[in-house]
Amino acid sequence: MSAEKLPKSDLVLHGHFGKDHERRYAHVPFDVPAGRRQIHIRYSYNDQIDSDPTLGGGNTLDVGLFDERGIAESSPGFRGWSGSEKMAFTIDETWATPPYRKGKIEAGRWHVLLGPYKVGPRGCDWKVEIWFDPGIPAPKYPYFAGVGHVVSLPSARAGWIRGDLHCHTLYSDGDSWPIEMLDSASAAGLDFLGVTDHNNVGHQLAYGPGGNGLPIVIPGIEVTTYGGHWNAWGTDRWWEFREPNAKAVERTIRAAAESGAVVSICHPKPFGPPWEYEGVSGFHAVEVWNGPWAQQNVASLAFWESLLRRGQRYAVLGGSDTHYLHGRDLAARDADLLGTPTTWVHVGDRRSVATILEALRLGRSFVSESPRGPQLYLEADRGRAGRVSIQVRDGAGARLELLTDVAPPVARVVVGDAWDVAFDVPGGAGYVRAQLVSADGVVRALTNPVWAEHL
Ligand SMILES: [Zn+2]
Repeated sequence: MSAEKLPKSDLVLHGHFGKDHERRYAHVPFDVPAGRRQIHIRYSYNDQIDSDPTLGGGNTLDVGLFDERGIAESSPGFRGWSGSEKMAFTIDETWATPPYRKGKIEAGRWHVLLGPYKVGPRGCDWKVEIWFDPGIPAPKYPYFAGVGHVVSLPSARAGWIRGDLHCHTLYSDGDSWPIEMLDSASAAGLDFLGVTDHNNVGHQLAYGPGGNGLPIVIPGIEVTTYGGHWNAWGTDRWWEFREPNAKAVERTIRAAAESGAVVSICHPKPFGPPWEYEGVSGFHAVEVWNGPWAQQNVASLAFWESLLRRGQRYAVLGGSDTHYLHGRDLAARDADLLGTPTTWVHVGDRRSVATILEALRLGRSFVSESPRGPQLYLEADRGRAGRVSIQVRDGAGARLELLTDVAPPVARVVVGDAWDVAFDVPGGAGYVRAQLVSADGVVRALTNPVWAEHL
């Protein structure tokens, strides 16, 4: 039985969300009889519009599924969440539509998770149809083994490697399989790839660990809430995303950090979507650079800098947020290119998930426009207190800016492809950081701050 020619469903659930229910998840119960091996779910609703945060006037309804093990925070019963990307999905004992988890279909009370992200003026009338054992065959997934590419890029300083930290596949709203994404990262010359599908970890198994000629895979998740997104890397579980308020979000961020994950606020800029949880702390880093610089990253930089100026120490990192490798909506999303931007990390002679996470956590890193973009190394001058030394590679002609919290920026034009320079840091500065800017004002590279006590 193909999913297109299904008989009448075994169960129909329906209801209505008014404007007052916007951004509040509902858990709709249904009972699964004993002895079943497959569940197929299809849902629909009126006035459907895309999840793009710039669109309004209609409805966007997200969907997910919990099995009989329950809906509690961190429940093992979480079988997946597909946002508004998939209008139908199947969970079988032996396979499942990505990002859902295959496995036993136990009898008991299950819940469809419905999230009215947007509710239009007429409200949202929704319908969920459920089939038990419709006999849908497993789709034939393309078999493709990534082999690893040999790419010639400008070399980094000894002990430094480069990667991208943010991408999406068919396990959320991307158009590619994990192995295709990893192959593409390899073709871009990246040493590591952070894999961050929305509210799922199913993609991590599909990726495997990488390495052996492919980029190292940093297992991650983009925790996607209705008031902002945050990435966690170095975690293999889902994190609570259903409570869009600052208190709940901070509690979850702290729990993720406590568990050993590196946590970053994603794209705090208009249409990022932005970060609405003011005053939340407990994370390690800010994704100051998401996609090409010109896409509103100035706002993210201002957000980060305002935290630094208040003495709050967060590292900088970047991610391309790549969704499409196969050209869908390419005109609208000209941004999608792995390594735009690229984050460089210092790992010494040990390249592993653990050393990469440690470098990100401690801010032993910088961000640059691409895998072959200018490299910008900033460190305290070991020979002289109150001074920093900077090396710029492949940045000739750009403007190097040195910024502190106490004095106006100092700027110099970079000369040559390997340029070393030292600066005296103004007295009383809490930190100093560097950035490289093109003649037309576009940021090309950004360092982490060096804090006062290291100067
Ligand atoms: Zn996001």
